[in-house]
Amino acid sequence: MKEKCLSLLGQRGVTMEDLIELVMFLQRDYIEEIDEEEIREDIYEILDKREVYHSVFTGIAIDKAVEEDLLFDAGLNEVIHHDEGLYGVDEVLAYGICNLYGSIALTNFGYVDKVKPGIIGRLNDDTNYCHTFLDDIVGAIVASAASKLAHTHIRKVDI
Ligand code: MG
Repeated sequence: MKEKCLSLLGQRGVTMEDLIELVMFLQRDYIEEIDEEEIREDIYEILDKREVYHSVFTGIAIDKAVEEDLLFDAGLNEVIHHDEGLYGVDEVLAYGICNLYGSIALTNFGYVDKVKPGIIGRLNDDTNYCHTFLDDIVGAIVASAASKLAHTHIRKVDI
């Protein structure tokens, strides 16, 4: 399923390299030598989880339906298309992904949502398409991968 997920992300302008770049951005201050291949494997593993790919597919399905004005309510279609400030359903769908990867994923998700680095900023600025759900989905995937990486490399102290 991870290949189908990556292919769908690719159709919406998000590549594996974009995701890796953001994970490196999040973790470079904490890990001395970051191995891109390790990040790639972590992202594959995340995208292979049922809860994750269901969120990815659902978020992109809504974005695409909004682009084609297919929602039954024109007002709702407009709210999502313009990513109104108080419409938070996109974040809620995405942080369901972070909940699987613990508190570091959640804090990183909030951080990239605020700073909008790399592909997240580009999706946010792209007025030709609706990426209201996708920018948060991408944020959640990279935040989860950053959390996985942090937990692998942390100095372990048993309690
Ligand atoms: Mg959004």
